[in-house]
Amino acid sequence: MKKIIFLLSTLFIFSACKNAENNTEVTTDNPRQEFSIIIHGGAGTILKKNMSPEMETAYKQKLEEAIRVGYEILKNGGTSIDAVTKTINVMEDSPLFNAGKGAVFTHEETNEHDASIMDGKTLNAGASAGTTTVKNPIDLAKAVMEKSPHVMLSGKGADTFAKKQGLQIVEPNYFYTERRYKSLQNIKEKEQTELDHDTKVSFYDGDIKDSKFGTVGCAALDKNGNLAAGTSTGGMTNKRWGRIGDSPIIGAGTYANNNTCAVSSTGWGEYFIRGMIAYDISALMEYKNLSLKEAAQEVIQNKLTRLGGTGGIVAIDKNGNMVAEFNTAGMYRATINDKGELSIGIYKN
Ligand code: ASP
Repeated sequence: MKKIIFLLSTLFIFSACKNAENNTEVTTDNPRQEFSIIIHGGAGTILKKNMSPEMETAYKQKLEEAIRVGYEILKNGGTSIDAVTKTINVMEDSPLFNAGKGAVFTHEETNEHDASIMDGKTLNAGASAGTTTVKNPIDLAKAVMEKSPHVMLSGKGADTFAKKQGLQIVEPNYFYTERRYKSLQNIKEKEQTELDHDTKVSFYDGDIKDSKFGTVGCAALDKNGNLAAGTSTGGMTNKRWGRIGDSPIIGAGTYANNNTCAVSSTGWGEYFIRGMIAYDISALMEYKNLSLKEAAQEVIQNKLTRLGGTGGIVAIDKNGNMVAEFNTAGMYRATINDKGELSIGIYKN
C-alpha cells in the first residue's frame, strides 16, 4: 500500500513539474466549472527585468478590470459571446495593448486592425481585417457574424459595413499613441542601418520580432455550456502591403466548438496560420481524445516550436478547464473560475 502511495505521489509531482517546465498553466481541473473565463494580452519576450513595477501594476489592473467584466456577464447568466466581446472591449480601449486604441503602426504610419470571434454552439464565426476607423474591432467581427452572410470582411468595405451597423467610428488619429509611434521609428531606423550595412534585413529579427506585444484575446464558457472565443490586434509593427496575421483567421487565431474547446492565439501570426494552431488543438481533442492540456502542449510546445513559431494560446474546454500555454518568456494572462477565484500571470512560472 505504502509503495502504491509513493508511486502515485511521485507520478503527481512529475506531472506537475512537467507542466511548469512547459509553461502550461492549468487553473482548474475537474470538477466541472459552471462557467469560466480566460484572457490574454499578448505573448513575447516579456521579462521582469525589462518591466517597471508601475507598468506591471498597470497591466495587472487592466487585465483584472477586463476579465471581471466578462465574469459578471457569465455569473449573471449572460452568453459567452457577450462575455468575450465586452471583455475584449476593455482591453481595446486601453493604450496598453496592441488592439484598438493601443494598436501598433504599419510601415505607412497607419493603424490596421484585425479581429475575429467564434460561437462554439453554432460554429458561426465573424472576422474583419485591415480596418482603420472602427474603434472596437471585436464588435465588427461580432457584427459580421451576426448581421452578414459572410465570415470575413476586409479593408474599406469592412469599415463601411461597420458604419452601416451603427458601430462606433473614429478618426484614424484616435489610434495614435506615442509609445507605438516610437516603436515604429526604432524599427525603421534599425532597418535602415541594416540596409546601409548591406546586412540581411529580416522583418522579424531581434526587436522587430517582439514589436507586436499586446494582441488581446478571450475564451469563455457560459452557464448554458456554450463556448466562445475572440481575438483582436493591430498586428505587427511596420507591417506593410496589407499584411494580415492569424488573429482574424478562424482556425488559426480563434476557434470555438462546444464539443471540444474555445481558443484564442497570440504570437508570430504567420506560423499560427501555417499551423492552424487554434483548430489543431480542437482537432486533437475531437479526433484523438486528448485533454485540452495535452492538446495545447502538443500544439504549442511541439508543433509550433518545431515550425519555428513563437507565441501562445488561452483556451477553455467544455468542462470549464482553462489552459494558458506558451513557448515565449511571458504572456499577459488572467483567469476567473465559477467560484470567482482570480489568477493573473505575466511571466513564465
Ligand atoms: N498574432 C498577431 C499577428 O501576427 C500578433 C500577436 O499576437 O502578437 O498579427
